[in-house]
Amino acid sequence: MTIKCRDIPEKANDYVDRDGPVGDRLGVALHIAMCSNCRTYVRGLRLTRRIAAASFRTEAPDAVVTRLGLGDGPSTDTGKGAP
Ligand SMILES: [Zn+2]
Repeated sequence: MTIKCRDIPEKANDYVDRDGPVGDRLGVALHIAMCSNCRTYVRGLRLTRRIAAASFRTEAPDAVVTRLGLGDGPSTDTGKGAP
């Protein structure tokens, strides 16, 4: 299957996620090897994903960490018997 520029927006997510049919991903890989416009598009998509992922990596509030017992501080209270 030959991937054309108009197919890239639809297929690029799977390509970046390494998801979906191998044939499609291979087609995208071959296409962006030859097409600088689509290469730029995929690069932008990857960058956007990275920024979005980083925004989720903010620290959890102390109250949440304590409540879940994830902190390495004094967490004697496991929440059992809490109101
Ligand atoms: Zn293209």
